[in-house]
Amino acid sequence: MSESMADRLARLEERIAAACGRAGRPRDAVTLVAVSKTHPPETIVEAAALGLRVFGENKVQEARAKIPQCPSQLTWHLVGHLQSNKARLAAQLFDTIHSVDSEKLVRLLDAAAEEAGRTLNILLEVNVSGEASKFGLRPDAVRPVLDAANACPRLVVRGLMTMAPFAPDPEKARPYFALLRDLRDRLAVESGTPLEELSMGMSGDFEPAIEEGATMIRIGTMLFGERRRPSDDESA
Ligand SMILES: *Cc1c(COP(=O)(O)O)cnc(C)c1O
Repeated sequence: MSESMADRLARLEERIAAACGRAGRPRDAVTLVAVSKTHPPETIVEAAALGLRVFGENKVQEARAKIPQCPSQLTWHLVGHLQSNKARLAAQLFDTIHSVDSEKLVRLLDAAAEEAGRTLNILLEVNVSGEASKFGLRPDAVRPVLDAANACPRLVVRGLMTMAPFAPDPEKARPYFALLRDLRDRLAVESGTPLEELSMGMSGDFEPAIEEGATMIRIGTMLFGERRRPSDDESA
């Protein structure tokens, strides 16, 4: 018989707690974002029954269909790339958007949040590795987008997000996580914005991410098993 979701979560929680321990950080300094993309509402209901409350999706349309079928006390994060023509819908569906990477998107989300009569938490996505295939701002392009977002009454910039290049050895990801933390530390001082959140680390590399200061880890595969559409990573 395959491992149950409860077993997977227990194993994951053990490793999260151990990584927090190694870094001298309390367990509650790290939010587990359960990345439920491609999985049906029943899976999310099961995860919610195990106590998970924060869920990540990467496609606005998929989330729109799914969220109404899920328990109402859950918090939804958009972790994947956001196209500008979906900004309006995204501002209605999500509490936090991890993938903001342009001034254009900042303006559209602020207008959409205003229209929805709410404020929206955002993270600025940074491409720290410089890989051409990755979304996100170059590190030297973050400041103007941060300033633009700080000028928007409906947006709260909570911090930064990154994806490390894929590598079988999680230690290969560590330098990119350290770079994001250093960039955050510098921008926080220079801009006077707290930027307390660092969204970094996935199933394959969350331990070095926690050791380097992640406050949100985005975990799909380790909780829910392999996806049938692995090519969906980060697409919108
Ligand atoms: C799919 C996805 C994740 C989760 O990846 P796993 O390796 O399945 O844990 C995290 N972040 C983003 C942006 C994703 O698209």
